[in-house]
Amino acid sequence: MKAISILGATGSIGTSTLAVIRAFPDRFRVVGLAAGHDAKGLAAQVEAFRPRVVSVATPEAKAALSSLVDVSGIEVGVGEEGMAAVATAKEAEIVVAAAVGAVGLVPTFAAIQAGKDVALANKETLVMAGEIMTREQKARGTRLLPIDSEHCALHQCLVGRDPGAVSKLWLTASGGPFRTRPAATFAAITREEALNHPTWRMGKKITIDSATLMNKALEIIEAHWLFDIPGERIDVVVHPQSVVHSMVEFKDGTVLAQLGRTDMRIPIQYALSYPEIWETPLEAMDLKAAFSLGFEPPDHARFPSLHLAQEALARGGTTPAAMNAANEVAVQAFLNGEIPFTGITEIVSDVVKNHASTPATAIETVLAADRAARAQATLACRALNPA
Ligand code: MG
Repeated sequence: MKAISILGATGSIGTSTLAVIRAFPDRFRVVGLAAGHDAKGLAAQVEAFRPRVVSVATPEAKAALSSLVDVSGIEVGVGEEGMAAVATAKEAEIVVAAAVGAVGLVPTFAAIQAGKDVALANKETLVMAGEIMTREQKARGTRLLPIDSEHCALHQCLVGRDPGAVSKLWLTASGGPFRTRPAATFAAITREEALNHPTWRMGKKITIDSATLMNKALEIIEAHWLFDIPGERIDVVVHPQSVVHSMVEFKDGTVLAQLGRTDMRIPIQYALSYPEIWETPLEAMDLKAAFSLGFEPPDHARFPSLHLAQEALARGGTTPAAMNAANEVAVQAFLNGEIPFTGITEIVSDVVKNHASTPATAIETVLAADRAARAQATLACRALNPA
């Protein structure tokens, strides 16, 4: 039985993780669940899994949880401290890091420091503090397994291979809902249009990131830290069908691709069962059904995010953390109807270009850069929306 803690338990990845756990009741037990404000969602999970330790974002959510479900014998924490208690629960062997955004950084780092294997869906933590996290993970000899579908694909293509034989990592991108939309109409894109992803059903933040291709930008930086490949050897190709989840090009000209359904339970099961491979309860891909695979270069004029990520990675230090923070603020402002769609990458670009980078060798330095970039991005949002 593998003992598991989940950060971000009530979100899209958290609930898919619990679906995988439900499918293998003899192999997993849930010891910790951390949620944000969704007390109702967490209460149902507590009822079903009876973890030893849980946490929520606020005292109000804690009170709501206690009113919804019997929490006797369960340690209920609040905020970052509560989340860290779930991340470092002594019985936990694997921590699924699926909180959204920067809020997951400190608890995920605490999990690595506590010697846990981490199954990582929260790419923002690696974007912010990849150097610190991978250094700590190597020093502790723990596993850092990607849940992101592209990185899961890369992991599968790379496992058992000589790292020196790799010439390039190719991340595939669906292209999002605006792949063919004319640039002149981008400023008029609505929240509803941006939330309507063509191939994946996901949380709001990542869905907007997919529409701007910022998700792919963050994934370039994530891949750099996970696989120790320089940014200039990580490239993106648009593949609208989302069947090929990513590819590795080797020095001899061979390209390995991983194919699969667009269901996050597949990469989650891969990470949780690794290094074993278990039979999926899901329906297999029908390779005899007629389908075609298309590939095209990304349009950098309409989607400047990819070049921004390469720039942030080249500048190094705290710049990727600043980029991530600016994006989180701008995405929220867009979702609130405060800035236009095109304002998101404008604001991220401004923050990246103006950020005074320092070496990202301590969590405190990264958090300071994150705060400074949030403040700057907030001002930039107000400038775009004087009302
Ligand atoms: Mg992905």
